[in-house]
Amino acid sequence: MNPFLFTRVTTPQAAIAAMAKESGTYFLAGGTNLIDLMKRGVIIPERLIDINKLPLATIEKTATGLRIGAMAKNSTVAEHALVKNHFPLLSMALNAGASAQLRNMATVGGNMMQRTRCSYFYDPSMPCNKRSPVQAGGAAARVDKGQPNGPTGCGALGGYNRMHAIFGASSKCIAVHPSDMCIALAALDATVNVSGPKGNRTIPFRDFHRLPGDTPQKDNTLLPGELILSVDLPTNGFADHSHYLKVRDRASYAFALVSVGVGVQLRRNTIEDIRLAMGGVAHKPWRLTGAEDFLRGKPATEANFKQAAQLAMTGAKGYGENDFKLALAPNAIVEALRTATQTA
Ligand code: SF4
Repeated sequence: MNPFLFTRVTTPQAAIAAMAKESGTYFLAGGTNLIDLMKRGVIIPERLIDINKLPLATIEKTATGLRIGAMAKNSTVAEHALVKNHFPLLSMALNAGASAQLRNMATVGGNMMQRTRCSYFYDPSMPCNKRSPVQAGGAAARVDKGQPNGPTGCGALGGYNRMHAIFGASSKCIAVHPSDMCIALAALDATVNVSGPKGNRTIPFRDFHRLPGDTPQKDNTLLPGELILSVDLPTNGFADHSHYLKVRDRASYAFALVSVGVGVQLRRNTIEDIRLAMGGVAHKPWRLTGAEDFLRGKPATEANFKQAAQLAMTGAKGYGENDFKLALAPNAIVEALRTATQTA
């Protein structure tokens, strides 16, 4: 039993002020990942700030598109008429994630903050640089005050890495970002509105999550004490031709081996505009901008899809057990493009 303080807040200002009080403090939203991490001893908080009463669950039209509050439940967003009709890629990605029960609890902000499912990260007896980062002096840094975080190193690099990254990894960490929702948000060019001790700011979604580099303990670019308020989606022309393809080991309640989010704006059979992002392949949602540039203005043909998929694989690298993703990923891109351009 690890005792911790528990505070419930009702305004964003109170949440930010409470977060600033001491280290080892976490916001508690749906708790679908945080509670697991606490049970396994990966996170041992000093204090939890319950933000479930914050008035941040609204889904509303804006002058430029749609704003989704950070506390909106995943299931509510997935089934909302404005999302289903105008941003079906987001609805599909959300419904591909977790289970119905989890989607009823999980929030948009919490989904963005969820940690990798690398099995070494979840076992404090195993080496993991994300859970136990190395300090400048060489000793293991403690993520939380008083936390026995286990050995440093990357167990997955020479170990079990079937689920791991093929893009953007480092010698310190090859973990992948686990969210389906975030793949859609990356493809849809979302922006994230946050508030913190230094005021409000907006972060482009492509810059919200980060690659591991030498600091794999940092999943995102939030500053200390910042709270996610909402996500904005710009209006687009992809509603008729969107698809989220998730390849996984079982049909439900499994993380992606590889996933592809596609939105296409078609005029007759010509691709006027397109967004492509992949999941299960990198430490962050992986936008395929080279493939997008190649396809823009071209006919929606199998040959072009295959060439775009090969372009998208530039720089891909396997680590042994995940080498199969080098073939699976381009096939998934072609299949997702084929399906998206056939839907209407
Ligand atoms: Fe830890 Fe990352 Fe290595 Fe997994 S891949 S063991 S999360 S450092």
